[in-house]
Amino acid sequence: MRVALISPYLDIYSTGMRTISSCLRKAGHETKQIFIPSASENFERVYPEQIASDVLDICKDVDLVGFSLMSNHFSKSAALSKDVPEKLGKPVLWGGIHCTVRPDESIEHADYVCLGEGDDAAVELVDMLAAGKKPTGIQNLWIRHGNEVEKNSIRPTIADLDRLPHPDYSMVNHFILNEGRVVPMTHELQEKYLVYKYMASCSRGCILNCSFCCHNAYRKIYGTGSNTRRRSVEHVMEELKYVRDNMPYIRYLVFDDEFFMDASIDYIKDFSAQYKEKIGLPFMVTGFIPVTVTEDKTEALVDAGLFNIRMGIQSGAQNTKRIYRRNIADSVIVRAATIFDKFRTNIRLPVYDMILDNPWETDDDRVETMQLLQKLPRPFRIIFYSLTFFPGTDLYTRAKEEGIIQDDIRDIYQKDYLRVNRTYMNGLAYLFGAFRIPKPIEKVLLSPAIVKRKPDFLFYPLWFLGRPVYLGLQGLRDIFGGNFIRVNRYARVLLRNFQVRAANA
Ligand code: SF4
Repeated sequence: MRVALISPYLDIYSTGMRTISSCLRKAGHETKQIFIPSASENFERVYPEQIASDVLDICKDVDLVGFSLMSNHFSKSAALSKDVPEKLGKPVLWGGIHCTVRPDESIEHADYVCLGEGDDAAVELVDMLAAGKKPTGIQNLWIRHGNEVEKNSIRPTIADLDRLPHPDYSMVNHFILNEGRVVPMTHELQEKYLVYKYMASCSRGCILNCSFCCHNAYRKIYGTGSNTRRRSVEHVMEELKYVRDNMPYIRYLVFDDEFFMDASIDYIKDFSAQYKEKIGLPFMVTGFIPVTVTEDKTEALVDAGLFNIRMGIQSGAQNTKRIYRRNIADSVIVRAATIFDKFRTNIRLPVYDMILDNPWETDDDRVETMQLLQKLPRPFRIIFYSLTFFPGTDLYTRAKEEGIIQDDIRDIYQKDYLRVNRTYMNGLAYLFGAFRIPKPIEKVLLSPAIVKRKPDFLFYPLWFLGRPVYLGLQGLRDIFGGNFIRVNRYARVLLRNFQVRAANA
């Protein structure tokens, strides 16, 4: 049986979809993977005619077309999915977090909708179709039979992640959008879109249950437990050896895990020793949670090549932390940042995530966050997100009840979560995130007399200082410090995005 899998994501990592492709291939089926990366998260747009036509052309000889999507890719995926049965007469499968929290809506656009983990459900579905049977009784799947929908139960999550094959980076029957056309993947294109970086994941689940996060939504489906699972070190190393041996353009790795540092010190030491011996490339870990950071674990990882981390802080305000159900004390956050600072020769610019635009925050809460930023060792970089109420989360329910969300498609699916409101306080967040502000100036900038007046016209000057000026200074620091990989990668990503934008204009 031949299956096409379509990734609408900004980048081409798509670890979940690539793993499902490998599961299907292992079960004896053929897959095509189609990556449609974009220069920016242009959520509201449908695909231009040429791109849609190229994708349909690639799918014309397959038996099933699958889409992997988050809420932000809903509009694009829905438009393209409509064409599949209409123009090709093929059935459509949808999977991903959006389908898990919105199966009712998803089944209107697909014949099969996968809730939760799709690795086993996809294989069972394709096996059944290949055997000429009418799909039925497959756990995790909603199946449309004419006007009826068969809603099957959810199977337990996969306890042994080592039984899953590695993500499919074979490039066999892989296609990618490049310069306005969807073309066969080549090493050159893979290099262009990966831009030195390979992303791996050692675990699934999360130990926390933040009220805005997909894991909050997953807990409603899988029960209240954290559902955390980890691959063995050997299984991870097998995947990475393939990368080392077959993808020479990869210069560093990113472990995209939610709770990497929650592993035992024995696991981290074993991981570090094997990584150093067998792989040896610099690496970064995302998803650090402040409560899990310890000096001995950080030291072991630095010794193995850890050169950067990304940690969620989200807010420094007690009120907001309660809303997010992330009661992590400021002292714990500062302690974690201080540990990174001890290794500043290696971890040069830690990245922290913060959330702005929370409608339940007061200006006093925002001031608390600025004050936390003042306490963190510098330098660091912050990625600011605009709070988005993803369906299935507790905050979505609250925002909906309070009328903050009026139109899900406009206010959530098509919202650019990286575009924060242009307010004075948000401008200050950029400034305080970039520079330590002397106390007398801090006092003036945060004085109630100014804050209450809401001088939002100052957003851009403050943002300019906190973003382009600051990143420019960090770039110069990297150049003079001989750290060219980040500068080079940044320049290449900018160039690639410029090319993609020009081609898609
Ligand atoms: S720690 Fe991060 S990944 Fe885990 S629930 Fe909170 S936001 Fe989600």
